[in-house]
Amino acid sequence: MGEEKQPMDKIEDLIDGYSDFHVHPDYSKDACGSVDEYCQKAIELGLKRICFTTHYDADPERKEIDYFMRVDGKLKVITPKIVQRYIDDVKEAKKKYSSSGLEVFVGLEVDYAPHIEKDLKGVLSGLDLDYTLGAIHCLDHTAITASSEAYKYFQKKTLKEFIREYYRVFTLASSSGLFDSMAHLDGYRKYGLDFYGKDIMVAHREFIEPALEALKRNNVGIEVNTQARRRGQNEFYPSREILSLAKKAGVKVVAIGSDAHRVEDLGKDIKEAASLVKDFFYLKIK
Ligand SMILES: [Zn+2]
Ligand SMILES: [Zn+2]
Repeated sequence: MGEEKQPMDKIEDLIDGYSDFHVHPDYSKDACGSVDEYCQKAIELGLKRICFTTHYDADPERKEIDYFMRVDGKLKVITPKIVQRYIDDVKEAKKKYSSSGLEVFVGLEVDYAPHIEKDLKGVLSGLDLDYTLGAIHCLDHTAITASSEAYKYFQKKTLKEFIREYYRVFTLASSSGLFDSMAHLDGYRKYGLDFYGKDIMVAHREFIEPALEALKRNNVGIEVNTQARRRGQNEFYPSREILSLAKKAGVKVVAIGSDAHRVEDLGKDIKEAASLVKDFFYLKIK
């Protein structure tokens, strides 16, 4: 990555409450709202920075389910050309909105799985991205963050088995060298809280240490993701307890994201997350 392409160098800008670094335009299969519509909304909200992070899901075993991007209103199988089209579209917006004071960044939220790490390396090294966000959405090729699939997975696993496997894969992702930051660290709460109950809030204790060490060792950051609030969770992803463990391990919160999948959700709760991160993460606990 070129020097000007590393937004993480200026962390204070990204956690200022005016920067939304996790946004899904309609290139994502499960999102609506064009790049332009989001940028206009960002200006209306007084945001200074927006980073688009459309989904890049490339597990061949899930080809029928989520190996798509939406272009010109139609879902198309992901190819390098399609990804480039997305990048070009966001870069166009970058130019278009620069005079309005809105900085536009192009990123991808890449679904990581160990068996596709090599392929991801090949693809991502050829892309001109500002920000590469890693995510664990799937375990054993099953989406633990989709209500239609998560419960099938949960029924086969004890809480301990599930969380152990999650952090095993998360640690590999953090060590892969592919990502600037990891998305929604304990995003497994999304449906897991409902299925396993409150024990899930502390289930990380046994397994999170190697994951945090891997983040620190590889200089990979984490985000605070406010979508949790819109899913009925009290705490953002990650929870305060995990934030405090991350801080102790020397891991940095490098961005805040709404994880908006529709224009109305852009920037939701990011100011609150920003003050949480500043007070709780960077100032109070020293
Ligand atoms: Zn995600
Ligand atoms: Zn997302």
